Amino acid sequence: MTTDPSGGAVFFGDPDSLRDPDYLVGPDPLDHLEGLGFPGPPPPGSVPGRRGGTAPRDTWGSDRGLDFTERELAFRAEARQWLADHSPGRLPSMDTPRGARAHREWERELAAARWSVVAWPEAFGGRDASLVEWVLFEEEYYRAGAPTRIAQNGISLLAPIVFAHGTPEQQQRILPRMADGTDVWAQAWSEPEAGSDLAGIRSRATRAEGGWILNGQKIWSSRAPFADFGFGLFRSDPDAERHRGLTYFLFPLDAPGVTVRPIAQLDGDPGFAEIFFDDVFVPDADVLGGVGDGWRVAMSTAGNERGLSLRSPGRFLAAADRLVDLWRGRGTDQPAATERVVDAWIGAQAYRYYTWDTVDRLRAGGDVGAHGSVNKLFWSQLDVDLHETALDLLGPEQELVGPWIDDYLFALGGPIYAGTNEIQRTIVAERLLQLPRGDERRPRTDREARA
Ligand SMILES: Cc1cc2nc3c(=O)[nH]c(=O)nc-3n(C[C@H](O)[C@H](O)[C@H](O)COP(=O)(O)OP(=O)(O)OC[C@H]3O[C@@H](n4cnc5c(N)ncnc54)[C@H](O)[C@@H]3O)c2cc1C
Repeated sequence: MTTDPSGGAVFFGDPDSLRDPDYLVGPDPLDHLEGLGFPGPPPPGSVPGRRGGTAPRDTWGSDRGLDFTERELAFRAEARQWLADHSPGRLPSMDTPRGARAHREWERELAAARWSVVAWPEAFGGRDASLVEWVLFEEEYYRAGAPTRIAQNGISLLAPIVFAHGTPEQQQRILPRMADGTDVWAQAWSEPEAGSDLAGIRSRATRAEGGWILNGQKIWSSRAPFADFGFGLFRSDPDAERHRGLTYFLFPLDAPGVTVRPIAQLDGDPGFAEIFFDDVFVPDADVLGGVGDGWRVAMSTAGNERGLSLRSPGRFLAAADRLVDLWRGRGTDQPAATERVVDAWIGAQAYRYYTWDTVDRLRAGGDVGAHGSVNKLFWSQLDVDLHETALDLLGPEQELVGPWIDDYLFALGGPIYAGTNEIQRTIVAERLLQLPRGDERRPRTDREARA
């Protein structure tokens, strides 16, 4: 099982050469990609197109250079078949009551066939899939146009730390109900004065008989209006150093003293909430990790959020595929649009290949560390560029409602959540490039950069 897939994909290609107009004179960007060593489009009629046929067109690139085992290929084939037979396609927004119900039903269907948490041990409803198989599954999931996951924050942000830091009792109580969609979890980290500066958390936990009393406020908690439980940090020792006085708590969102107040997102749907805590009792059994150890526990999920587990390449490959479809219908005579479509398609492919490179590094015992920040910068910018290109292709008829505008509004949040891009750039500058910090005039040594 993968407990820390904080994968970083680093794209150090030469974008200027890809913008050379010589590559972009023909009607189909994929023809030109073929000239660059990328696979071209399938021959007409060989793969039924999404608009007229039964299966999505496949422009995802080949597995050239990727060496999968028979077992991995069989796993992928099984996933592809099941998803082709069962994927409901796009569901109503999970930030609405109707959409949340539909997404929970989908979670139950996935779980019944043991596709909801493939990388988990079988005892918890998974398939004990390897990291490679997990990435393959994610590719197939998005290739099939399957819905975004309402269980995602629980599965990708909380579950890895429950496996790593939870007691056996917590694992038994929390994980199966998360896997089958019974309990949906919300991440409650941010506070009005503690977003980028997470260690500035003020919500507090005070000792009580058999547990703790929580007071304070959280904000920007995705899907909390429709979730069942939350997980977050509270200051349990006001006298300790900022990072050391924090404890990680789990709590029901309908507990006495908890108020969940929805906040509308850009699209008007209540996708966020503020959560207020007014003398909320939490038993000791709902402390995750040690008392005062919350920062370390929390940081073991921050890498997940920036890296592979939250944004695997399948999502961008599928969006790039849809963009190429859109371009075929509307943009082939617009050279500037063609160039942007090519850039987006290459970006998605590059993200895929570098992700596989990361997988190799992790399997060889390496770690990703600060490269997760490069990864995060890359996918969040790719998502915005890709959707802006689509909206420009749609032109004056730009959809006011519909999947492209919905996904664009969501993409705009990418540079903010999972650590803002300004903060990620600082991490890249200081830790990877070892540029001087603040008014320092000399590059930092390895030891200083790690400190
Ligand atoms: C779509 C979406 C979903 C989210 N979901 C959740 C969720 O489920 N749970 C949750 O807890 N939170 C969630 N968040 C909140 C998110 O984590 C915070 O918005 C983010 O951490 C930034 O914190 P902030 O909003 O307080 O901004 P601030 O930290 O106040 O930052 C404001 C601006 O100043 C910049 N800045 C701040 N400090 C520095 C610095 N040292 N150097 C350079 N620039 C700096 C930031 O980059 C940013 O541009 C979500 C946000 C979005 C957009």
